[in-house]
Amino acid sequence: MADVIIIGAGPAGLSAAIYVQRAGKTAQVLEAMTYGGQIVNTPEVENYPGIKNISGFDFATALYDQAVSLGAEVIFDAVDRIEKVEASEESADVPLWRVVTASGAGYEAKAVILATGAKNRKLGLDREEELTGKGVSYCATCDGAFFKGKPVAVNGGGNTALEDAMFLSNYCSKVYVIHRREGFRGEPHILDALKAKENVEFVLNATVTRLITASEDGAREKLSGVEVKDKITGESRELAVEGLFVAIGQEPANQSFENVVPLDPHGYIAAGEDCDTGTPGIFTAGDCRTKAVRQLTTAASDGAIAALAACNYIG
Ligand code: NAP
Repeated sequence: MADVIIIGAGPAGLSAAIYVQRAGKTAQVLEAMTYGGQIVNTPEVENYPGIKNISGFDFATALYDQAVSLGAEVIFDAVDRIEKVEASEESADVPLWRVVTASGAGYEAKAVILATGAKNRKLGLDREEELTGKGVSYCATCDGAFFKGKPVAVNGGGNTALEDAMFLSNYCSKVYVIHRREGFRGEPHILDALKAKENVEFVLNATVTRLITASEDGAREKLSGVEVKDKITGESRELAVEGLFVAIGQEPANQSFENVVPLDPHGYIAAGEDCDTGTPGIFTAGDCRTKAVRQLTTAASDGAIAALAACNYIG
């Protein structure tokens, strides 16, 4: 049995694992997908203190290697639920929690750190799910290469959308940046660089209202365009694109834990900067927590805070 179970192997979870191991306790990390979380989708990280420039994948791999080399055990299995273990002799001082996975396995520990991050927000359009992988994508780094020389659109106005558009503009014939208002959340320097690109066109005050498809010669149906509606004029038009990269932010996926920790009205785990959920033995770290800034540095910082709090709690 490990001292601390960490749910999620993103930057917050892996940082927590490093701090747990370095504190002389043992960490077991449960991860549903692959290590690294959302940062693996970022082509370049340039704002992590001490590192000038690194790809998100390389950063995540270094973090994973560091955690594992310190002795953390990473298990790739999706967590289904957390249950309180009835008090026993072994858990008389500090009660145990059992983490049950989709494969039916159960892992017990005195402390649990929830570091589940957030998942990509969907547009909620008809056939969006069916067309994912057939033109609709949530990851330019992963899927961008399939659209070499082709026209694409990016939807969103945050850093992810701007970085995706910049990345795609290097090899797609045309990149439309569709955003629902004039102002951007993303950093001005990327916005300025995008504005200087000849193959980038901004479609502002607009929302994507329909996914248009085509199938050629009996081939499988795929995206051939998007309908966008101008919010000011009310007019709609079609953009002929083969790819739509949806980059409209993230939302948490914490519903499975609402029996053990409080969630805020947006579904994030309600915990302050001390990463304490208020439930004895359950801590949280990173983007899944209520917070104002969701960055790589704040995720790593949360990981350290939650890990030390968990180790203190265990005693
Ligand atoms: P974000 O900053 O939350 O931006 C989401 C964008 O999508 C906003 O422009 C928002 O519009 C728009 N949007 C939200 N819901 C929408 C909807 N239903 N339909 C159409 N548009 C919608 O998300 P993000 O860009 O993924 O970034 C998340 C966090 O990661 C941010 O803190 C960001 O700075 C950080 N990040 C950092 C880096 C880096 O430092 N290298 C890279 C990527 C991301 P409004 O603006 O109108 O609300």
